[in-house]
Amino acid sequence: MKNNEETVLGTVLDIERFSVHDGRGIRTVVFLKGCPLKCEWCANPESQQLKPQIGFFRDKCAACMKCAEICPNGRLFKEQGKLDFLNCTGCMKCVDACYYGARIQYGRQMSAAEVVKIVKRDKVFYDNSGGGVTLSGGEMSMQPGFALNILKGCKSEGIHTAVETCGYSNWEQFSKILEYVDMLLYDIKHMDSSIHKAKTGVLNALILENAIKAAPLVKEMIIRYPVIPGFNDSLDNALALARFMKAKLKGVKRVDLLPYHSMGLSKCERIGKPYPFTLPYELSGERVQQLYELLKAEGLDVIIGG
Ligand code: SF4
Ligand code: SF4
Repeated sequence: MKNNEETVLGTVLDIERFSVHDGRGIRTVVFLKGCPLKCEWCANPESQQLKPQIGFFRDKCAACMKCAEICPNGRLFKEQGKLDFLNCTGCMKCVDACYYGARIQYGRQMSAAEVVKIVKRDKVFYDNSGGGVTLSGGEMSMQPGFALNILKGCKSEGIHTAVETCGYSNWEQFSKILEYVDMLLYDIKHMDSSIHKAKTGVLNALILENAIKAAPLVKEMIIRYPVIPGFNDSLDNALALARFMKAKLKGVKRVDLLPYHSMGLSKCERIGKPYPFTLPYELSGERVQQLYELLKAEGLDVIIGG
Protein backbone atom coordinates (compact mmCIF):
# COMPACT_ATOMS: atom_id res chain seq x y z
CA MET A 1 0.00 0.00 0.00
CA LYS A 2 1.22 3.48 -0.81
CA ASN A 3 1.96 5.84 2.07
CA ASN A 4 0.57 9.37 2.44
CA GLU A 5 3.71 10.99 1.10
CA GLU A 6 3.11 9.31 -2.24
CA THR A 7 -0.64 9.79 -2.40
CA VAL A 8 -1.12 13.33 -1.06
CA LEU A 9 -0.88 15.75 -3.95
CA GLY A 10 -0.54 19.50 -3.85
CA THR A 11 0.16 22.50 -6.04
CA VAL A 12 3.71 23.79 -5.97
CA LEU A 13 4.55 27.22 -7.34
CA ASP A 14 8.31 26.79 -7.31
CA ILE A 15 11.20 24.99 -5.65
CA GLU A 16 14.26 27.14 -5.11
CA ARG A 17 17.48 25.32 -4.26
CA PHE A 18 20.56 26.89 -2.63
CA SER A 19 18.65 29.76 -1.06
CA VAL A 20 20.35 31.64 1.76
CA HIS A 21 17.16 33.43 2.80
CA ASP A 22 14.11 32.20 4.68
CA GLY A 23 15.94 30.52 7.54
CA ARG A 24 19.53 29.66 8.42
CA GLY A 25 22.21 28.12 6.20
CA ILE A 26 21.71 26.78 2.70
CA ARG A 27 18.07 25.90 2.15
CA THR A 28 15.62 24.57 -0.37
CA VAL A 29 12.54 26.78 -0.34
CA VAL A 30 9.32 25.14 -1.48
CA PHE A 31 6.67 27.69 -2.46
CA LEU A 32 3.12 26.36 -2.30
CA LYS A 33 0.17 27.97 -4.07
CA GLY A 34 -2.78 29.55 -2.30
CA CYS A 35 -3.12 32.29 0.31
CA PRO A 36 -6.11 33.38 2.44
CA LEU A 37 -4.80 36.97 2.58
CA LYS A 38 -4.75 39.50 -0.23
CA CYS A 39 -2.02 41.89 0.88
CA GLU A 40 -1.97 44.85 -1.48
CA TRP A 41 1.83 44.92 -1.66
CA CYS A 42 2.19 41.11 -2.07
CA ALA A 43 5.61 40.25 -3.53
CA ASN A 44 4.34 36.91 -4.88
CA PRO A 45 0.87 37.61 -6.31
CA GLU A 46 1.20 34.55 -8.55
CA SER A 47 1.08 32.45 -5.37
CA GLN A 48 -2.28 33.75 -4.13
CA GLN A 49 -4.52 31.57 -6.29
CA LEU A 50 -4.60 27.93 -5.25
CA LYS A 51 -4.82 26.42 -8.70
CA PRO A 52 -2.24 26.72 -11.50
CA GLN A 53 -2.47 29.80 -13.70
CA ILE A 54 -0.88 31.28 -16.78
CA GLY A 55 1.80 33.98 -16.81
CA PHE A 56 2.75 36.17 -19.77
CA PHE A 57 6.17 37.80 -20.21
CA ARG A 58 5.53 40.61 -22.66
CA ASP A 59 9.24 41.35 -23.18
CA LYS A 60 9.85 37.82 -24.48
CA CYS A 61 6.87 37.77 -26.82
CA ALA A 62 7.71 37.75 -30.56
CA ALA A 63 4.07 38.32 -31.58
CA CYS A 64 3.99 35.09 -33.62
CA MET A 65 0.44 34.42 -32.34
CA LYS A 66 0.98 30.65 -32.04
CA CYS A 67 -0.69 30.89 -28.63
CA ALA A 68 -3.82 32.43 -30.13
CA GLU A 69 -3.96 29.67 -32.77
CA ILE A 70 -3.90 26.88 -30.20
CA CYS A 71 -5.97 28.55 -27.49
CA PRO A 72 -9.61 27.42 -27.29
CA ASN A 73 -10.32 31.08 -26.47
CA GLY A 74 -8.00 32.39 -29.18
CA ARG A 75 -10.46 35.03 -30.25
CA LEU A 76 -9.77 36.74 -26.92
CA PHE A 77 -6.20 37.62 -27.88
CA LYS A 78 -6.02 41.26 -28.83
CA GLU A 79 -2.39 42.13 -29.50
CA GLN A 80 0.88 40.22 -29.27
CA GLY A 81 0.26 37.27 -26.94
CA LYS A 82 -1.85 39.40 -24.62
CA LEU A 83 -4.93 37.58 -23.43
CA ASP A 84 -8.09 38.50 -21.61
CA PHE A 85 -6.91 36.70 -18.46
CA LEU A 86 -10.39 36.60 -16.98
CA ASN A 87 -11.53 34.19 -19.65
CA CYS A 88 -8.45 31.97 -19.60
CA THR A 89 -9.48 28.48 -18.50
CA GLY A 90 -5.92 27.55 -17.54
CA CYS A 91 -5.70 24.65 -20.00
CA MET A 92 -1.98 25.50 -20.49
CA LYS A 93 -2.00 24.55 -24.19
CA CYS A 94 -0.32 27.84 -25.08
CA VAL A 95 2.68 27.19 -22.81
CA ASP A 96 4.09 24.43 -25.02
CA ALA A 97 3.05 26.29 -28.18
CA CYS A 98 5.21 29.31 -27.35
CA TYR A 99 8.78 28.82 -28.62
CA TYR A 100 9.94 32.00 -26.95
CA GLY A 101 9.17 31.14 -23.35
CA ALA A 102 6.78 34.07 -23.12
CA ARG A 103 4.03 31.99 -21.55
CA ILE A 104 4.64 30.03 -18.39
CA GLN A 105 2.59 27.92 -16.05
CA TYR A 106 2.56 29.08 -12.44
CA GLY A 107 1.92 26.01 -10.32
CA ARG A 108 2.18 22.28 -10.94
CA GLN A 109 0.79 19.30 -9.17
CA MET A 110 3.26 17.11 -7.30
CA SER A 111 3.14 14.46 -4.61
CA ALA A 112 4.72 15.13 -1.23
CA ALA A 113 7.15 12.27 -1.97
CA GLU A 114 8.32 14.00 -5.17
CA VAL A 115 8.97 17.21 -3.26
CA VAL A 116 10.88 15.38 -0.51
CA LYS A 117 12.99 13.61 -3.15
CA ILE A 118 14.08 16.98 -4.59
CA VAL A 119 14.73 18.44 -1.13
CA LYS A 120 16.87 15.42 -0.17
CA ARG A 121 19.32 16.01 -3.02
CA ASP A 122 21.05 18.82 -1.15
CA LYS A 123 21.19 17.25 2.29
CA VAL A 124 24.98 17.41 2.37
CA PHE A 125 24.79 21.20 1.94
CA TYR A 126 22.21 21.53 4.70
CA ASP A 127 24.33 19.43 7.03
CA ASN A 128 27.43 21.52 6.37
CA SER A 129 25.72 24.90 6.65
CA GLY A 130 23.05 24.35 9.30
CA GLY A 131 20.38 24.70 6.61
CA GLY A 132 17.37 22.65 5.59
CA VAL A 133 14.00 23.02 3.94
CA THR A 134 11.62 25.98 4.20
CA LEU A 135 7.97 25.74 3.23
CA SER A 136 6.75 29.07 1.95
CA GLY A 137 4.02 30.39 -0.31
CA GLY A 138 1.48 31.69 -0.65
CA GLU A 139 0.45 30.26 2.65
CA MET A 140 1.59 26.67 3.13
CA SER A 141 -1.32 25.86 5.48
CA MET A 142 -3.79 26.39 2.61
CA GLN A 143 -2.70 22.86 1.63
CA PRO A 144 -2.47 21.37 5.12
CA GLY A 145 -2.23 17.65 4.27
CA PHE A 146 0.37 18.31 1.59
CA ALA A 147 2.46 20.59 3.82
CA LEU A 148 2.26 18.09 6.68
CA ASN A 149 3.47 15.21 4.53
CA ILE A 150 6.36 17.18 3.03
CA LEU A 151 7.52 18.19 6.51
CA LYS A 152 7.08 14.66 7.89
CA GLY A 153 9.09 13.25 5.00
CA CYS A 154 11.88 15.79 5.49
CA LYS A 155 12.03 15.17 9.23
CA SER A 156 12.31 11.43 8.66
CA GLU A 157 15.38 12.18 6.50
CA GLY A 158 16.93 14.23 9.32
CA ILE A 159 16.41 17.55 7.51
CA HIS A 160 15.88 20.77 9.49
CA THR A 161 12.44 22.25 8.74
CA ALA A 162 11.22 25.83 8.69
CA VAL A 163 7.89 27.28 7.61
CA GLU A 164 6.93 30.81 6.69
CA THR A 165 3.35 31.62 7.56
CA CYS A 166 0.86 34.46 7.71
CA GLY A 167 -0.72 32.64 10.67
CA TYR A 168 -4.26 32.83 9.30
CA SER A 169 -4.91 29.11 9.68
CA ASN A 170 -7.29 26.62 11.16
CA TRP A 171 -5.64 25.81 14.50
CA GLU A 172 -6.39 22.09 14.42
CA GLN A 173 -4.59 21.72 11.09
CA PHE A 174 -1.88 24.24 11.89
CA SER A 175 -0.98 22.59 15.21
CA LYS A 176 -0.51 19.22 13.46
CA ILE A 177 1.90 20.86 11.02
CA LEU A 178 3.82 22.47 13.88
CA GLU A 179 4.74 19.03 15.25
CA TYR A 180 7.18 18.74 12.34
CA VAL A 181 8.53 22.30 12.37
CA ASP A 182 11.89 23.32 13.85
CA MET A 183 11.73 27.00 12.98
CA LEU A 184 8.60 29.11 12.60
CA LEU A 185 8.85 32.34 10.59
CA TYR A 186 5.65 34.16 11.53
CA ASP A 187 4.37 37.33 9.84
CA ILE A 188 2.61 39.97 11.91
CA LYS A 189 1.59 42.78 9.60
CA HIS A 190 -0.34 45.18 11.80
CA MET A 191 -1.47 45.27 15.42
CA ASP A 192 -4.69 47.17 14.66
CA SER A 193 -7.27 44.73 13.36
CA SER A 194 -9.32 47.09 11.20
CA ILE A 195 -6.22 48.56 9.52
CA HIS A 196 -4.99 45.00 9.01
CA LYS A 197 -8.25 44.08 7.32
CA ALA A 198 -8.25 47.14 5.07
CA LYS A 199 -4.96 46.15 3.40
CA THR A 200 -4.88 42.35 3.71
CA GLY A 201 -8.56 41.43 3.54
CA VAL A 202 -8.71 39.77 6.98
CA LEU A 203 -8.81 40.79 10.65
CA ASN A 204 -5.72 39.99 12.72
CA ALA A 205 -7.41 38.24 15.69
CA LEU A 206 -6.85 34.68 14.45
CA ILE A 207 -3.25 35.50 13.52
CA LEU A 208 -2.42 36.87 16.97
CA GLU A 209 -4.26 34.03 18.70
CA ASN A 210 -2.40 31.39 16.68
CA ALA A 211 0.92 33.12 17.38
CA ILE A 212 0.27 32.88 21.12
CA LYS A 213 -0.63 29.19 20.86
CA ALA A 214 2.26 28.34 18.52
CA ALA A 215 5.08 30.03 20.48
CA PRO A 216 5.44 27.34 23.18
CA LEU A 217 5.20 24.49 20.67
CA VAL A 218 8.19 25.20 18.42
CA LYS A 219 11.91 25.18 19.11
CA GLU A 220 12.39 28.57 17.50
CA MET A 221 10.02 31.31 16.39
CA ILE A 222 10.92 34.50 14.54
CA ILE A 223 8.43 37.31 13.99
CA ARG A 224 8.59 38.89 10.55
CA TYR A 225 7.51 42.49 10.17
CA PRO A 226 7.15 43.55 6.54
CA VAL A 227 7.62 47.33 6.71
CA ILE A 228 5.09 48.88 4.34
CA PRO A 229 5.12 52.68 3.95
CA GLY A 230 1.91 54.35 5.07
CA PHE A 231 0.52 51.07 6.40
CA ASN A 232 2.55 49.79 9.34
CA ASP A 233 5.74 51.87 9.49
CA SER A 234 4.56 54.00 12.42
CA LEU A 235 6.45 53.89 15.71
CA ASP A 236 3.12 53.28 17.48
CA ASN A 237 2.58 50.06 15.56
CA ALA A 238 6.14 48.89 16.24
CA LEU A 239 5.69 49.61 19.94
CA ALA A 240 2.39 47.69 20.01
CA LEU A 241 4.12 44.74 18.34
CA ALA A 242 7.00 44.81 20.84
CA ARG A 243 4.58 44.90 23.76
CA PHE A 244 2.52 42.05 22.33
CA MET A 245 5.64 39.93 21.87
CA LYS A 246 6.90 40.60 25.38
CA ALA A 247 3.53 40.00 27.02
CA LYS A 248 2.22 37.09 24.99
CA LEU A 249 5.00 35.34 23.09
CA LYS A 250 7.19 34.08 25.89
CA GLY A 251 10.68 33.16 24.74
CA VAL A 252 10.27 34.83 21.32
CA LYS A 253 12.79 37.62 21.09
CA ARG A 254 13.68 37.95 17.45
CA VAL A 255 11.93 40.18 14.97
CA ASP A 256 13.03 40.61 11.36
CA LEU A 257 12.25 43.90 9.63
CA LEU A 258 11.55 43.32 5.94
CA PRO A 259 11.52 46.66 4.08
CA TYR A 260 8.98 47.05 1.28
CA HIS A 261 10.01 46.44 -2.32
CA SER A 262 7.88 46.69 -5.44
CA MET A 263 8.64 43.30 -7.02
CA GLY A 264 4.95 42.41 -6.92
CA LEU A 265 4.17 45.12 -9.47
CA SER A 266 5.71 43.42 -12.53
CA LYS A 267 4.49 40.03 -11.33
CA CYS A 268 0.92 41.35 -11.23
CA GLU A 269 1.28 42.48 -14.85
CA ARG A 270 2.36 38.96 -15.84
CA ILE A 271 -0.81 37.42 -14.44
CA GLY A 272 -3.10 40.16 -15.71
CA LYS A 273 -3.95 41.48 -12.27
CA PRO A 274 -3.95 45.12 -11.15
CA TYR A 275 -1.35 45.96 -8.49
CA PRO A 276 -3.59 47.46 -5.81
CA PHE A 277 -0.93 49.09 -3.65
CA THR A 278 -0.25 52.80 -4.11
CA LEU A 279 3.06 53.79 -2.58
CA PRO A 280 2.33 56.94 -0.54
CA TYR A 281 6.05 57.75 -0.12
CA GLU A 282 9.39 55.96 -0.39
CA LEU A 283 10.41 54.05 2.70
CA SER A 284 13.48 55.82 4.05
CA GLY A 285 16.47 54.10 5.60
CA GLU A 286 16.04 56.52 8.47
CA ARG A 287 12.53 55.23 9.24
CA VAL A 288 13.70 51.60 9.16
CA GLN A 289 16.52 52.56 11.52
CA GLN A 290 14.02 54.24 13.89
CA LEU A 291 11.92 51.08 13.98
CA TYR A 292 15.06 49.05 14.58
CA GLU A 293 16.13 51.27 17.50
CA LEU A 294 12.66 51.23 19.05
CA LEU A 295 12.35 47.44 18.95
CA LYS A 296 15.91 47.07 20.27
CA ALA A 297 15.14 49.43 23.14
CA GLU A 298 12.21 47.15 23.99
CA GLY A 299 14.72 44.34 24.49
CA LEU A 300 14.12 42.46 21.23
CA ASP A 301 16.74 40.99 18.89
CA VAL A 302 16.20 42.83 15.64
CA ILE A 303 17.54 42.03 12.19
CA ILE A 304 16.97 44.19 9.14
CA GLY A 305 16.33 41.88 6.22
CA GLY A 306 16.21 38.55 8.03
S1 SF4 B 1 3.21 32.15 -28.82
FE1 SF4 B 1 4.56 33.23 -27.39
S2 SF4 B 1 5.76 34.61 -28.67
FE2 SF4 B 1 4.00 33.93 -29.92
S3 SF4 B 1 2.45 35.55 -29.59
FE3 SF4 B 1 2.06 33.93 -28.09
S4 SF4 B 1 3.19 34.60 -26.25
FE4 SF4 B 1 3.98 35.78 -27.98
S1 SF4 C 1 -4.00 28.54 -20.75
FE1 SF4 C 1 -5.46 30.17 -21.19
S2 SF4 C 1 -4.45 31.38 -22.76
FE2 SF4 C 1 -3.38 29.43 -22.71
S3 SF4 C 1 -4.38 28.16 -24.26
FE3 SF4 C 1 -5.42 27.73 -22.32
S4 SF4 C 1 -7.18 29.15 -22.23
FE4 SF4 C 1 -5.74 29.89 -23.83
